[in-house]
Amino acid sequence: MKKYVSLYVHIPFCAVKCKYCDFLSFDGESYGTMLRYVDSLCQEIKLYTPVAEEYIVRSIFIGGGTPSLLDEALITNIMAFIRKTFTLEKNCEITIEANPGTLRHQKLNGYKAAGINRISIGLQSADDDMLRRLGRLHNYDQFVASFKAARRAGFQNINVDIMSGLPGQTIHTYVDTISRVLDFSPEHISAYSLQIEEGTPFANDPQILEDIPPEMIDRRMYEITKKLLAAGGYERYEFSNYAKPGYECKHNMVYWTGGEYIGFGLGASSYFKGKRFSNMRDIFSYIDLMEETTEKFVTYDDMELLFNETTAKLRQSVTTMYVDSRMEEFMFLGLRMMCGVSRSDFEERFKKDIYEVYGPVLNKYTDQGFMVVDGDRIYLTDKGIDVSNVILADFLLDK
Ligand code: SF4
Repeated sequence: MKKYVSLYVHIPFCAVKCKYCDFLSFDGESYGTMLRYVDSLCQEIKLYTPVAEEYIVRSIFIGGGTPSLLDEALITNIMAFIRKTFTLEKNCEITIEANPGTLRHQKLNGYKAAGINRISIGLQSADDDMLRRLGRLHNYDQFVASFKAARRAGFQNINVDIMSGLPGQTIHTYVDTISRVLDFSPEHISAYSLQIEEGTPFANDPQILEDIPPEMIDRRMYEITKKLLAAGGYERYEFSNYAKPGYECKHNMVYWTGGEYIGFGLGASSYFKGKRFSNMRDIFSYIDLMEETTEKFVTYDDMELLFNETTAKLRQSVTTMYVDSRMEEFMFLGLRMMCGVSRSDFEERFKKDIYEVYGPVLNKYTDQGFMVVDGDRIYLTDKGIDVSNVILADFLLDK
């Protein structure tokens, strides 16, 4: 019987680097480099030909970086290679991440024709001064134009990313961002709180650090997000993700439920055949390696996939996921969802009752009101989500 897999495609290019960003992305690369990179991606996809026939693809996520910097011909090329190699489920969710200002009508039509059926637009804030401070290239009007153009091109599944806890952000400006986004009625909203990452310009800017709202304000923004989005008809289905009924992101659900996925491209991570592995992070080494190789995985087994000559060079890390690590991940990732984890799913996967492994921790947190056991489901309460870092760490088996 065929199994399900999801695919992630990494596009590591941005028009400019935002000041808070530590994602694997570069600005200022030439169009020639982008072309070579896309050819390399296609080569990497092709490497999976012998294993692909065992699988049906249920979601694809083209992320970055700013994938929408690539014109429709390049995205069409990537999608053609995926279709040539893998079988896609009929309702396969296919997302592309986009920044306002990069979406033109022709490009959107091309994406649609290539099979993309979900767009994730990074707005972050509706306040132009704030966008400038973040180092974002676009303004709010460009978001409006991009959103409308996506709808006109027929996209019926759109996510908008917003951020709270930004330097200088007030409750008033944050509420204004949410209200403006709600006016567009996207199917999905991701609402993250800014994290200051080491090595970014923000981390080394004392004025920025001083202007980050105090925890009390950040906390109020978090409560406001929940309240306003619930009132707008969005269900919170994960700590930071809200969707209209039926529009939960299938691709992210695969990550949170321990499903298999293959990542293509620079730095991309995979969880496949019981192993977690990630690709090298140097772009020209990646391109050179893929340009050199014409080999496929002639016959498949785990050793072949991970340790033939090409793939050994391609991988930056490979971790075999033994049963303890898989149980830990099942809990860490599953408890991020509002519906939590399923007791019967745990038993089916690990041939043990969840209480046999985690009984004392579950009893401790349910007694204290941080978790609820409701029939088959076990999930965090609001109080539990507030201290989720501490709770989730308690599910480590090797403490
Ligand atoms: S657009 Fe996204 S990936 Fe690119 S620099 Fe900004 S935050 Fe990072």
